Amino acid sequence: MTFSTRSGSDRLMRAAVLHGAEDVRMEDVPIPVPGPGEVLARVDVASIDFTDRKVYLRGQHPMIKIPGLFGHEWAGTIVEVGPGVGARWRAGQRVVAANSAPCLPDEAPVCRQCRRGRASLCENIQYNNGAFAPYILVPSRLARINLHEIPPHVPVERVVLTEPLACVVHAVRRVPIHPLDAVVILGAGPMGLFWVTTLRRRYGPDLVIVSLDYQDDRLAVAKAMGASHGLNSNGGKAHELLRATIGRPDADVIIESVGSLPAHREALGLVGRGGTLISFGGVVVGQILSVDIGRMHYEEIGIQPIYHHTPPDVAEAVRQLVGGEVPVEHLITARLPLSELRQALTMVGDRTTLRTILIPDH
Ligand SMILES: [Zn+2]
Repeated sequence: MTFSTRSGSDRLMRAAVLHGAEDVRMEDVPIPVPGPGEVLARVDVASIDFTDRKVYLRGQHPMIKIPGLFGHEWAGTIVEVGPGVGARWRAGQRVVAANSAPCLPDEAPVCRQCRRGRASLCENIQYNNGAFAPYILVPSRLARINLHEIPPHVPVERVVLTEPLACVVHAVRRVPIHPLDAVVILGAGPMGLFWVTTLRRRYGPDLVIVSLDYQDDRLAVAKAMGASHGLNSNGGKAHELLRATIGRPDADVIIESVGSLPAHREALGLVGRGGTLISFGGVVVGQILSVDIGRMHYEEIGIQPIYHHTPPDVAEAVRQLVGGEVPVEHLITARLPLSELRQALTMVGDRTTLRTILIPDH
């Protein structure tokens, strides 16, 4: 066994193992046995996102050790708990988990970032992968602070997008927005759409929220989820489109929810006086964006990057999803058996689906 999964079990499962760039294989691996504080869950549904696609193409990511088990969004049912888990978790509970856990606040050592309230930047962050499998092991730290029970009446599909929603909850919490602001969200993929619905619910019907994308079908979803306007900026006429639609060629808050250098460049070009670019879509480290620092100074233009989530954000995302506050039915556009993971990865790249649900065979 060359990757990290606790063996010791004779039982095997067919799981996705990422071996490197564009090299994912369905392999028979041992079903993990939960150790102290750990929980073993059956994956009832998993979800595949653009991060999975990026990890797959790059063959590397801070989130995952390669070769290793793949996939990070899932919801399921506890089947076994390890020693010392306590009364909170038991077999049969339906759960959803985040894909990481920062330091435990009550257990040394607590890193400097966690102590200064920046748990999303935790220096000892523990990532968990293996959602593209029939069973997943939840490490003890994650079971303590980022695993949540789902009430029996809530379908697992409704909460499987907890992790991506938590990223948006985290970001929205940190972006100050004035009632007079115009907000542009660049990219109407699932994350951009979560931005639309989260901002709309938080700031009410009057906030100007513009969704920009190259796909009309996605812009229609953006409007259904609360965008004031959905504009197709294919052809590079974003300034003109904005002027014709909201009466000005720029906006106060531009959210880059694409995750590319060209999109960051386009987004920065749309920031108006006193405005801010929120760098939300992750770009591979080493990409350089040049800025006019003079204009930035005299017009007080800011760039605010926001990454990942914290346990309170995850808890809030679960609360919103369980409560039916987020219309996820707009976002789940395909369902495939886990064995068709490669097809699902292609669909993410082709942008022919918003979110694809993968269903393991048990
Ligand atoms: Zn920490």
